[in-house]
Amino acid sequence: MRTARPIEIIGGGLAGLSLGLALRRAGVGVTVLEAGDYPRHRVCGEFVTGLGATTIARLGLAPLLKDAGRLREVIWLVRGRELHRQRLPAPALALSRHTLDARLARAFTDAGGHLLTGTRVNPEEAPEGRVFATGRRRATDKGASWLGLKLHARGLRLTSELEFHLGDDAYVGLCPVEDGRVNVCGLFRLRAEVTAGRETVLVAYLHATGLDALAARLGEVEICPASCSAVAGVGFDRRAAETGRMNLGDTFAMIPPFTGNGMAMAFQSAEVALDPLLAWAQGEAGWAETVRLTGGRLRRRFRRRLVTAATVHPFLHSPPRQRWLALAARSGLLPLRPLYHLLH
Ligand SMILES: Cc1cc2nc3c(=O)[nH]c(=O)nc-3n(C[C@H](O)[C@H](O)[C@H](O)COP(=O)(O)OP(=O)(O)OC[C@H]3O[C@@H](n4cnc5c(N)ncnc54)[C@H](O)[C@@H]3O)c2cc1C
Repeated sequence: MRTARPIEIIGGGLAGLSLGLALRRAGVGVTVLEAGDYPRHRVCGEFVTGLGATTIARLGLAPLLKDAGRLREVIWLVRGRELHRQRLPAPALALSRHTLDARLARAFTDAGGHLLTGTRVNPEEAPEGRVFATGRRRATDKGASWLGLKLHARGLRLTSELEFHLGDDAYVGLCPVEDGRVNVCGLFRLRAEVTAGRETVLVAYLHATGLDALAARLGEVEICPASCSAVAGVGFDRRAAETGRMNLGDTFAMIPPFTGNGMAMAFQSAEVALDPLLAWAQGEAGWAETVRLTGGRLRRRFRRRLVTAATVHPFLHSPPRQRWLALAARSGLLPLRPLYHLLH
């Protein structure tokens, strides 16, 4: 199929590149404009839950995920003390963003897509045929601003396939990725008193949030310096952007990272946008209608999980609510299985 109308995607992350790939394979002319370059490390827990076979097939992701780890066992700890062990209803896929984003970029260009890296586009300009997949929106409320930190460690032994550590206004996930590395990624409420360099800031935050035992474990292993990354100004405004533009992935709405579902949402939003964009590219629909239709479908698909995640999030990072969580875990009343289904 050859289409008359080309599509321009701003942002070459998971949503932008996977959409670009699927559109290219359907014969649409696509340009992705990306501010950064590949490969690059990204602040991300690097495990994805809830990514179904239909989305993988529709977007042609199977070859890119073929060697991803499949993890089911999770241990939850509060300031180093075991809270609960959980078996996920379906395996989480584990792969570094360094590898995944670069593979997607390569697949997109191999499919004939036009990828312009090092190109930051003014997000105010939204002509017809332009899709925004520029990642998270910055936190609007300064008091609710979070810091994401990550590093890869070699030789770190895990006590479960995935470890999840809760601290004071913080939580940290440990996930094995490729090449014998473990990704250590945390979300921390910004603390003005913590000052440290790029390679030491995560450990400094672990100490500041009561996660000293984890900090000590990192002190005994090799840290991969190039992987040390930070992202500030993270907010979790679960209201979808109402802008009259086509927003996908985190630009549409960002789910708290404990769910391990943000990457799945990025891919799923590309899947949702695919048919309306194909119809537009073939001249069968107007742009305003395409944007409205896609926005409505995204809201319906993600509403329940966004509301659930926003409700659960404070129980993971706030110490008083963590105590409630611990009580529920000791009494065997943690509703993890129903929550998993509400969150995916
Ligand atoms: C601390 C933390 C941990 C997380 N852990 C997990 C996890 O374990 N599992 C999970 O599933 N999700 C996790 N997430 C969420 C996940 O990373 C995101 O949901 C996912 O990356 C969203 O993909 P995206 O394509 O929407 O955006 P991104 O992957 O962020 O891509 C957006 C792209 O747009 C580019 N861009 C931005 N502005 C412009 C511009 N003006 N012009 C051109 N290009 C631009 C950026 O450079 C970037 O490459 C985590 C998030 C955080 C903050």
